[in-house]
Order: sequence, then C-alpha cells, then structure tokens
Amino acid sequence: MLRISNKEITLCDSCDTFFDYVPQKNTCDECQRARRRAYARRKYRQRPEVKERQRKRKREYEQRPEVKERKRKREYRQRPEVKERERKRKQTPEYKEQRRKYHQRPEVKERQRKHERKYRQRPEVKERRLKRQRERYHRKKKLREEE
Ligand SMILES: [Zn+2]
Repeated sequence: MLRISNKEITLCDSCDTFFDYVPQKNTCDECQRARRRAYARRKYRQRPEVKERQRKRKREYEQRPEVKERKRKREYRQRPEVKERERKRKQTPEYKEQRRKYHQRPEVKERQRKHERKYRQRPEVKERRLKRQRERYHRKKKLREEE
C-alpha cells in the first residue's frame, strides 16, 4: 500500500489495525492501553499484601464444605481402581445406548451445534482449516499435473 510506503500509516504489531505512523511506535493506541493495563495488573498482583490477601482467600475457599467435597470426589475418581471401573462401564452396551439417546435430544444437539459453530469461528481453527484446504488443493493439482 502506498500510504504504508510513504510512512503515513503503519500496521499494529498485535492486531490488524492501521494507525498514523509515528517513529518508534509499533502498536496502536488501543493495544498500547491494553498492554499498560496488563502491566499494571501484573504489578498490582505482585504486591506482597495483595499476594497475601489472595492466599488467604484461596485458603478460605478451599475450606468451604462444598469445595472440600468436590475435591474429595475428584480424588476418588482419580483412583486407579475407580478409573478402571469407569472405563469398563463406558464399554457396556447399556451405557453406549444411554449416551446415544442423550445426544439425540434436541436441546443437546442444539447445544452441540452452537459449540461447534463457535469453535469453527476461532481464528486459529479457521486458519488451520484454510491451511488444510490449501494443502489439499495443491496435492490434487500436483496429482493432476503428474497424470
Ligand atoms: Zn493494535
């Protein structure tokens, strides 16, 4: 772009916006603000009194009965004999049937669809898909040429 070569505008390092060219400036105002905010947050969290307060809150949280209970259940599920039992249960026809029925429920299907749609729209997923398509295209093209 001519305006870039003329150093009128430049592309931000961390997003896709163009901004007015200023020497030594690599990010747009928005990203610069975000970076400064992140830095301030990091610094704040490193303060001893803040760290101590967070530790205390975490300790209190872990002492709550429902949290303790969840932790106990998690640990139970992690036991090798329990894991093995669960693995076997998942292989039974009854379980598979149950699961199949569950996934046929309209609200579950709808949830699944929504989730997939969101997943496909993620930039890195989109990028991967496009890359695969490109590779496939070139593979086919090469095959055609070899014929
Ligand atoms: Zn930016």
